[in-house]
Amino acid sequence: MINISNREKIDIRDKKVTVIGLGMSGVAAALLANHLGARVFGSDPSSEFQISDNALYLLHHHIASETGLHSDKIYDTDLWIISPGVPKDADIVKKAQKIGVPIVGEIEFASWFTDAPIVAVTGSNGKTTTVYILSEMCQSEYVQSIMGGNMGIPFSERVLKEIINPKQNRVFILEISSFQMEFVQHFCPKIAVYTNLSPDHLDRHGSMDEYVNMKLKMAKNMRDDGYIVFNADDPQLTLAVEGHDAQLAPFSMMRTGMTYSLDSNHINTLSGNPLIAVDDIALPGKHNLSNMLGAATSSNLMGISDDHIAQVMKTFTGVEHRLENVATINDVTYINDSKATNLDSVTVAIQSFKKPVVLILGGRNKGADFRLLLPHIKSSHVRDIISYGDAGGQISTAIGDAVRSVQVTDLNSAVRTAQSLAAPGDVVLLSPGCASFDQFSNFEERGKYFKSLVVEMGAA
Ligand code: ADP
Repeated sequence: MINISNREKIDIRDKKVTVIGLGMSGVAAALLANHLGARVFGSDPSSEFQISDNALYLLHHHIASETGLHSDKIYDTDLWIISPGVPKDADIVKKAQKIGVPIVGEIEFASWFTDAPIVAVTGSNGKTTTVYILSEMCQSEYVQSIMGGNMGIPFSERVLKEIINPKQNRVFILEISSFQMEFVQHFCPKIAVYTNLSPDHLDRHGSMDEYVNMKLKMAKNMRDDGYIVFNADDPQLTLAVEGHDAQLAPFSMMRTGMTYSLDSNHINTLSGNPLIAVDDIALPGKHNLSNMLGAATSSNLMGISDDHIAQVMKTFTGVEHRLENVATINDVTYINDSKATNLDSVTVAIQSFKKPVVLILGGRNKGADFRLLLPHIKSSHVRDIISYGDAGGQISTAIGDAVRSVQVTDLNSAVRTAQSLAAPGDVVLLSPGCASFDQFSNFEERGKYFKSLVVEMGAA
């Protein structure tokens, strides 16, 4: 077995490394381990097309694997790199632990092979957006940011690229999910960013305490030269970050005395100088203002200038499928918020606009009670609701006569109907509050389809 107790002395050359789970991060970890001279074997119980395709891809790199089962070969190993999809109480995990196999996650594994500083972003909401903002802010003359992690480009892939083609002054900006923290040992970011905590994935983590503990795992390895940047408007988070060695760097939309504080219409620096007027920030939404403050506080700790931070705030227009401005046609603005698959996301989306909103809701209900939206609809500028898909009937019943509402079958008809209802100056907002699986394979496909309908409309 590989002794992983001392990070500096870990050597995987000629060792047997088994990768459990051949999704994107598993494939990337296998390639990294292979490049570093390990004898890699991959295993995934699924025989779906994508997984078989990934196994074939590994074979082209001379890495053997099995799909459709876990054979006993997975226990003939010196180390496991385990996918975040495998729960820590799975039978195979228990068996491997019993025979003493060291088990690590992909993030932990990749972190052994780089000494570049890491900014790790976690939390329940706003991770991807914060990572993208941070990545732009930390792109300067002196710092080269490299994004990775849960946002779609595995950390291992980034580390491998850096080993092959090293660059100066790089910093990794990583999005980390709670699942990716399960098998962490030495992973130690320079800055850990916590956006907020809300009950999420409790089915997997069991209780809120366990979920919070999982999220805090990366802070536990940090020493007093590291920083925990956290949302001080979240009381549970504020309590949870206490008692670690790292220095605390709060951000807040309500409190003053922060690195950057908000007054009625400006963000000011700690010395009281105006950084930027809130109206000059390109990205809409109060929640995004919070993401901006988190990113700015972290960038400040990385030595980024106020001028550059303000510049990014002025120009950053958002991440695809998250309040994404698609087009303005006949003075109607079309917004794609396909990532909003729950009611919390719909709530923050509708609160982001001061103009009349034609809201498109629908898809497959994930168990939400749409009546919970009613108070938020009443306190926002939503004027019309168009519901579609599997959940169309439920939504329509829940809305009742709170606002004007129409039920249609699919997203195509929803967009046509929205176009006919919208007047100049309105916003048409796709913020579906549902999963996409009734009519699409994922939220990205739904968002792209929405955008194609809008573009078609603009060309007509
Ligand atoms: P994550 O990566 O954590 O899922 P994203 O940046 O992809 O977060 O945003 C997903 C959705 O979460 C957004 O569409 C928005 O509805 C909501 N959201 C984003 N930032 C915040 C925040 N700071 N507080 C509450 N909700 C947020």
